[in-house]
Amino acid sequence: MIGVWFVAAEVELFESLHEYTRAHEDWDLDEIFSFIILLGFVLPVVLYERNRRLRQSLRARGVAEKRAKHISRHDSLTGLFNRRVMSEVIRKYIEASQHKGGSLAVVLMDLDRFKPINDLRGHDVGDRVLQDVASRLRAACKSEQVPVRLGGDEFAIVVRENDELDEAVGLARRIMTAMEPKFPIGEGELAVGTSIGIAVWSEGLDEDQLFRHADQAMYRAKREGRGRLNFFDDDLGERLREAAELEVELTEAIEAGQIVPYFQPIVDIANRRLVGFEVLSRWHHERLGQIPPTRFIALAEDTGQINAISWLVLRQACETAKAWPSHLTISFNLSPRQFRDSELAATISSVLLETGFPPERLEIEITETAVIEDLDYARETIERLRWLGIRISLDDFGTGFSSLATLSRLPFDKLKIDRSFVTQVTEDAQKAKIVAGIISLADSLELSVTAEGIETEDTYKMLANLNCDLGQGFLFERPLPGEMISELLLSGRLDGGYFEEIGGVASALA
Ligand code: C2E
Ligand code: CA
Ligand code: CA
Repeated sequence: MIGVWFVAAEVELFESLHEYTRAHEDWDLDEIFSFIILLGFVLPVVLYERNRRLRQSLRARGVAEKRAKHISRHDSLTGLFNRRVMSEVIRKYIEASQHKGGSLAVVLMDLDRFKPINDLRGHDVGDRVLQDVASRLRAACKSEQVPVRLGGDEFAIVVRENDELDEAVGLARRIMTAMEPKFPIGEGELAVGTSIGIAVWSEGLDEDQLFRHADQAMYRAKREGRGRLNFFDDDLGERLREAAELEVELTEAIEAGQIVPYFQPIVDIANRRLVGFEVLSRWHHERLGQIPPTRFIALAEDTGQINAISWLVLRQACETAKAWPSHLTISFNLSPRQFRDSELAATISSVLLETGFPPERLEIEITETAVIEDLDYARETIERLRWLGIRISLDDFGTGFSSLATLSRLPFDKLKIDRSFVTQVTEDAQKAKIVAGIISLADSLELSVTAEGIETEDTYKMLANLNCDLGQGFLFERPLPGEMISELLLSGRLDGGYFEEIGGVASALA
């Protein structure tokens, strides 16, 4: 009986299952089982794969983010950190100094002769030099000092300072030494100098001010002759404030025509006859009186006003000197910056055309600083000016570092011995030797020589004995305004024996 019931129940169960599967036609039992079994195997694989992909994409994103971060903090050419990192480090160090004492300094470095490398040898060579500079910098830094490329040929390092403040100086010295060996380029090699400015932090200075101080110190290092190390001092800050005021006044002075040419006679040493004049700028300031060119010319070079001043003065000088006897020349000083101006020859030539002043009567004086950075460019420029009929003098000779051999590769007509040698020629045997040497060298190169700064009869005699061609100095005459020279010329007083009267008119008038 029980057996019959059991069989019946089994049949019933099968029938109801069958019914269930019929109701869900697409699901049959075998499939459900294999689905469950499959799920057991496949699910972990799918989950694993999904997880792996997720991890992979996260990793890729991480790499991209890292890369973006790297790019935003590094200079791509040299691999050094960039300005942004420097700002962070300065801020961090300032904070540390405020809390824990100690100090910091910014060492700013700029290459001296980089631009001509880029311009003349191409950017590839320039880039290689910068990469080389970067690795020399890395080597010169201690492990906690991080060199940064600020852009162009400017680099900086922020330094934690000790009480002696000698970390920055030590580093600057190491950098100077590291940059000394020439840089190999192609088959040749190139010397690249460095100018360094250092500013030390003091309470109250923020990051920008500290950086600006370093920049000013570096700029002054450049101005004072490159290849130097310079500290920022407050005195410099004061001078910069003064200069800023003067700059505004200079603009007004240019517009008001307060900057005028003075003329200092140049004489033939053999017979004391007048041959021409050096044009020297003078600024008649209403409040400060006469401001010497040594103060406003350098300022005008920095502010970019030098061209405005210079062409104004040259134009006036040509207008005035045009009326003077035609054998008299005028000698005009050009600043190094103007010499590098590609419009130079065109501008001078247009001043000559406008004023009708003959180019044969014009001489241009340029200093060694203007030519030494790039002799090839200098030669081209000098040749272009000479082609116009103008003569070129090498000014302030003896004060620079280049040899006459180097400079004689340029087609100068004349050489002016600097007054620092001439005024002491009678007292200082060393200087006398140098002057004699310059004169005989110039003679062998067929350059005519002018000695400036002749103040005494003894100096004059000594130069005459050395066969110096031309001379200029307070012994003959001081620089005078154009109208005064015109009067003297008209009265015939600048001819013949005039320069035998020691001191000239200026001393007679004084
Ligand atoms: P520099 O080219 O060496 O000019 C000669 C300087 O020596 C002049 O100074 C002149 O007045 C001075 N001097 C001449 N003879 C004697 C002397 O016997 N004894 C002494 N103690 N000094 C003498 P200055 O006029 O003050 O000009 C200074 C410098 O300013 C010039 O030096 C020149 O480099 C620059 N400069 C003047 N005018 C201009 C200009 O228009 N443009 C440019 N770029 N520079 C100028
Ligand atoms: Ca001069
Ligand atoms: Ca001079």
